[in-house]
Amino acid sequence: MAKDLYHFINGQRVTGISGRFKDVINPASGEIICQVPLASSNETVMAIEAAAKAFPAWRDTPPLRRARILFRFIDLLNQNLKELSELISAEHGKVIEDAKGSIIRGMEVAEFACGAPHLLKGHFSENVGTRVDSHSIRQPLGVCAGITPFNFPAMVPMWMFPLSIICGNTFILKPSEKAPSTALRLAELMKEAGLPDGVFNVVNGDSEAVNTLLSHPEIAAISFVGSTPVAEHIYKTATANGKRAQALGGAKNHMVIMPDADLDQAVSALMGAAYGAAGERCMAISVVVPVGEQTADALVNKLAPKVRQLKVGPATSPTAEMGPLISTDHVEKVRNYVTIGVHEGATLVVDGRELTNGENGKGSYLGGCLFDHVTTKMRIYQEEIFGPVLVIVRVDDFATALKMINEHEYGNGAAIFTRDGDTARAFSSEVQAGMVGINVPIPVPMAYHSFGGWKRSLFGDLHMHGTEGILFYTKLKTITSRWPTGVRTGNDFHMPTMM
Ligand code: NAD
Repeated sequence: MAKDLYHFINGQRVTGISGRFKDVINPASGEIICQVPLASSNETVMAIEAAAKAFPAWRDTPPLRRARILFRFIDLLNQNLKELSELISAEHGKVIEDAKGSIIRGMEVAEFACGAPHLLKGHFSENVGTRVDSHSIRQPLGVCAGITPFNFPAMVPMWMFPLSIICGNTFILKPSEKAPSTALRLAELMKEAGLPDGVFNVVNGDSEAVNTLLSHPEIAAISFVGSTPVAEHIYKTATANGKRAQALGGAKNHMVIMPDADLDQAVSALMGAAYGAAGERCMAISVVVPVGEQTADALVNKLAPKVRQLKVGPATSPTAEMGPLISTDHVEKVRNYVTIGVHEGATLVVDGRELTNGENGKGSYLGGCLFDHVTTKMRIYQEEIFGPVLVIVRVDDFATALKMINEHEYGNGAAIFTRDGDTARAFSSEVQAGMVGINVPIPVPMAYHSFGGWKRSLFGDLHMHGTEGILFYTKLKTITSRWPTGVRTGNDFHMPTMM
């Protein structure tokens, strides 16, 4: 009998009482690992109330003391890196080194957050009027919530909670029900690091928990990462309910290869960028745009054999380069896209559907797929597939490549491979995407920069982490003060100016 997971509320493991559970499956073997409780609205409110109760004392805790807890948390993350990586791989399927890398990228946000005493310093102006001073401070919002996807069970939550908490907010995380265990471990490690009860809570669940967070008046802000339809729903509902919101959605990231590019470098970059984590990354390259027929032919010749030789296997296999997809349902969805591509008239150069399943015939595996001669009218070009399927759209010139990217509904990341500075500069200046790579296939910004796309890849104004993260999790207050010796007598009925 698989063990049951729990919620983490007010510093305690809390058994789910809604009576609703979901199996968490190991995608490498098809085995049930555990069952995750799906919180009712009442259980979600318990977490909101715990976070609201913890807020006043946490808000008044000096930032340096808050930062010391995060320093200890980072130590604990390092001590538990192996266990956490294995937990991610077991529920998500990505290979261990990839899982480890994703935890470290999340940990880097916690490291950035340790600079809070500096980051939260305000501004001061002396004599904005005679003997009148002004200062601006950034204050926490209250109870914030994060809703996260299955594909980065540690990193995406860590884009949110370390910054939110360091700013003096309390936090409720609703992780993906497909990969929920890591979030619970992170909450326990925060407690072990010294975080007071109620400051960080994890509620497991589905749309019932999410809808409670979206409508409850005590929730001040919502951070979301997931698919575009859900992101749009979250953003619209949260903002209609008067909450601050940032909702990051899906993607279709293009990589342009100019005729002057180092093709070997571009091809090896593409392999990791398109097929790493089985293409289940919002920054995966899913469209490659070679400029000129010669570039395109040379690209296919170099790329196709590598895609055929991809080593697909469970995360526990030391030779595996690509693990399974998250579920058999998702494999079916991706396989269906491959069939659609064939019907649409694209050339299927490598058919990953030929891969047979894991050793025991179970698990949700799919080999790497490569399409050539794809057009912008095809669904396999327009829609996010979120699997190991790379499509090649051939174009004649740079202007056509740029126009195509700019007309796509998504604008998360975009990359160009070239040796020409002018072309690279024109690309980075004109492309309609939030994150741009020049000879870098997956330009995920470091923790002290901010992560976010444009167009339908992000709803809201502020990106995640970096200084935009600090802005998102705080609100500005500006105080103007005059002391008795500066007070003028008499009534003023006009606007004070410096004239
Ligand atoms: P998803 O949208 O299905 O789920 C994300 C979260 O929303 C989960 O916690 C889920 O429980 C919740 N949810 C799902 N449906 C809901 C509904 N109807 N109402 C309320 N809540 C709901 O996404 P996923 O399949 O877990 O993750 C893959 C998607 O996430 C892809 O589209 C990928 O591009 C995107 N993603 C984006 C980024 C980014 O930074 N832009 C990063 C990672 C993943």
